Amino acid sequence: MLLFPTLAFLCLLPLLALAAEDFYKILGVAKDADDRQIKKAYRTLSKKYHPDKNPGDETVAQRFVEISEAYDVLSEDETRRIYDQHGHEGIKQHQQGGRPGARHDPFDMFSRFFGGGGHFGGGQRRGPTMEVRISVPLRDFYTGKDHDFKIEKQAICSKCEGSGSKDGQRDTCRKCNGQGMMIQKQQLAPGIFQQMQMQCDMCGGRGSTVKHACPVCQGARVVREEESFELSVEKGIPVGARVTFENEGDDSPDYVAGDLVVQLFEKEPELGSEESERTDGTFFRRKDTNLFWREVLSLREAWMGDWSRNLTHLDGHVVHLHRERGHVVQPGTVEVIHGEGMPVWRHEDGPDFGNLHIEYVVVLPDQMESGMEKDFWATWDKWKKKRVDLGKLSGRPEPKHDEL
Ligand SMILES: [Zn+2]
Ligand SMILES: [Zn+2]
Repeated sequence: MLLFPTLAFLCLLPLLALAAEDFYKILGVAKDADDRQIKKAYRTLSKKYHPDKNPGDETVAQRFVEISEAYDVLSEDETRRIYDQHGHEGIKQHQQGGRPGARHDPFDMFSRFFGGGGHFGGGQRRGPTMEVRISVPLRDFYTGKDHDFKIEKQAICSKCEGSGSKDGQRDTCRKCNGQGMMIQKQQLAPGIFQQMQMQCDMCGGRGSTVKHACPVCQGARVVREEESFELSVEKGIPVGARVTFENEGDDSPDYVAGDLVVQLFEKEPELGSEESERTDGTFFRRKDTNLFWREVLSLREAWMGDWSRNLTHLDGHVVHLHRERGHVVQPGTVEVIHGEGMPVWRHEDGPDFGNLHIEYVVVLPDQMESGMEKDFWATWDKWKKKRVDLGKLSGRPEPKHDEL
């Protein structure tokens, strides 16, 4: 019975493989992505999948070519329009028809972008890891929520594509002949020389200079920029957890951007402005998968029973607490309610929850109406003879006076 659907599926596979992958998908951008987003995607992916970074890996090399192809088409208005209207077939015809050899060499494209030889020089360097701390309310740890946040970071200047030059032109440095380094001879004593390798001061070790600096970055090739990210706070994720955004750290033409690491913390509880944020749960305290809450009972409630409470949990559902008449709750009693704690993070077989611990605090009345006080006094007086031996209960020596 199962065989037939499997066969049908297998027959479909070659068909699926034939269809070329969508250019927008390859770059991981939306159909309406703007120029800047497309550039950024190319910049990040081309560095990540550069064959120099993954020597000998054929699939990675293939990916690098695909990324370059996708960028080549989507970065120009004309070809992007053709692709949007006629897809891969349209692009193929356009390339065969008008401009033979119009397709760009992926390494050329890479070097145009990063102002280098199309390769990472001397092994590929990686930028520093960037760490930020973000605090979110306990509610978001319970329900799970996506958070938008912004950080300022170093980005490649989009005006000059990281060349630092107004016209995109970089010239070989005259002083060091493009080496970035110079040998300096220093005389230590008559006839004794020491040779030292120094960074070229004219090009700052880069090996090339620009005549006309880019007006946006003043030749620095990078700018400080604010960028938005979306952080997914998963249900039950532990406090202090680190969420990594690969290659989203400070960027530079000289290296592959390091990761951006967000460390999650819990915000101090406060009542929100919206109704859904005004729950008892806001003030639950969390320890791992357990939640803790202190519930206050009056003397009458603790002693005589017959009370109920509705606790609103973090997502708004109600936890009902109650005791029948005659059911005593001793002060300091902790009631454990199973399954009302925090969700277990990434629990494998369906959702699972920790426990909610309720500690009961009993408040004795400071003041009573005088009539009430008299009534109580009379009642106590009447029943005084029926002693409760606190000493025996607590294991202390015999009491010296009456206690009730
Ligand atoms: Zn130089
Ligand atoms: Zn610039």
